[in-house]
Amino acid sequence: MRLPDALPDELLFSRMIRYCNVGAVPISEFLKNVYGDHRASINPILTSGLSSLSSIYCESKNNLLMEQTLAPLFMHYYPQYKAKLSKAIFSTDNYTAIRLSLLSCVREHAQLTLKMCPVCIQEDIRQFGVAYWHRVHQIPAIESCCEHQQQLVHDHLPKRLKLAVGYPSSFETDNQESSDESFHLAQFSRQVLLEESKSISNFRSASYSEKLSNLGYVTKNGRIRRVKLLSDFYTFTSQLHYPSSNFLPSSESDFKYITNLLYNQYSQHIFKYLLFEYWLSKQRVTRKAPEISSERGVDSASKVEQKCLSLLKQGLSISSISKQIGKSRTYVKSIAYSSGMEHLLKPTKLNASVRGKVIELAWKGFHRSEIAKRVSISTGSVEMLISTVNGLVEWRKRCKYESKRRCYKCQIIRYKQCHLLSIRKDIKRDCNAAFYWLYYHQPEWLESVLPKPSPPHQYPRIKQK
Ligand SMILES: [Zn+2]
Repeated sequence: MRLPDALPDELLFSRMIRYCNVGAVPISEFLKNVYGDHRASINPILTSGLSSLSSIYCESKNNLLMEQTLAPLFMHYYPQYKAKLSKAIFSTDNYTAIRLSLLSCVREHAQLTLKMCPVCIQEDIRQFGVAYWHRVHQIPAIESCCEHQQQLVHDHLPKRLKLAVGYPSSFETDNQESSDESFHLAQFSRQVLLEESKSISNFRSASYSEKLSNLGYVTKNGRIRRVKLLSDFYTFTSQLHYPSSNFLPSSESDFKYITNLLYNQYSQHIFKYLLFEYWLSKQRVTRKAPEISSERGVDSASKVEQKCLSLLKQGLSISSISKQIGKSRTYVKSIAYSSGMEHLLKPTKLNASVRGKVIELAWKGFHRSEIAKRVSISTGSVEMLISTVNGLVEWRKRCKYESKRRCYKCQIIRYKQCHLLSIRKDIKRDCNAAFYWLYYHQPEWLESVLPKPSPPHQYPRIKQK
């Protein structure tokens, strides 16, 4: 008797269930036959005993391994266990297969589950007359059907005689749609599984570093920008709306998550690799998008360039050209430089004669706003030109000081001439600024011009009677 033919994407484990059910073969008898032990515990995703199965049921053990178990995925992500795993799966070493599959368990003793999609079940029954367990649904921690965007439903396996789980059934389950990201992640994971099923490649964590470098997550010194990377990655994982957070970074500062993945210190859960790779693939798409559009936009870009050049030749100013073509001033300048029109960028207002005039007036001590008015430029430009001449700033400061000194002295002298009977207090009150400026800078002169202080008035003591 042969095993029932494999239906599309059917697990080997599922075929065994159908074999026992259809042929009314007692499970213990089947196990005794294949594994030599009527209580053998077999793993649904890494089913061992392939050599024995192939010889009894005339199957290709390689096909069984590559197409009806999840071994290709495990062998890809855990290359160090590849030889051990294939040896265990071909033999009847259930123990090693189960132990290696535990790499993908959150807790060592977590109960094994098989996952199913309620819509797939209905379609399978309609099309093949039977519901069966799909391989893609069993990818560790994937929670969405990659065909129907439905949340996968977990079915617990019995501890002994796991084949007794029987066919999947959707009688008591409600259809629940999964999030878009969860769905796309499931599709991505299916793609990885299918590729690895064709031929197994060895996973290298170094490939992540290369991709990250292309995406700008690596410094010039070759260090990963962990803060930015984790922040972006965490933002993405929080959009997954995942039923369990066991395999997601716990926070934006969960650096261990990334470090373990990148430096592969310990084997990580398969889902973490899939999740990170899916995110990386998305990044590539978003980064490449502008490149694709830029190819399409080459024509329009050259049109803008041509327009810019013709306007430059007409002698328009940089700012008016930038307004007309809707590009920055820097863009216009770069076009001018690249087409050898640098002379157009030379200053038009601050030419040599204007500069000479400004400096001349500045040496003469004119106020900056007065100079600006005379040569029709801004006071900022005047200040800039003054600061370029050695010693001019100090000279102008000295002039200002002298001017102030003369002005204030004059103010005090005139006040005294107008108010002949004034006393010190009056001058201090009416010429406050001048008084204090001279008090600090020219105290001797101030003392010499101020009226003599009136002697303090002594009030006679009132005698008590
Ligand atoms: Zn489905």
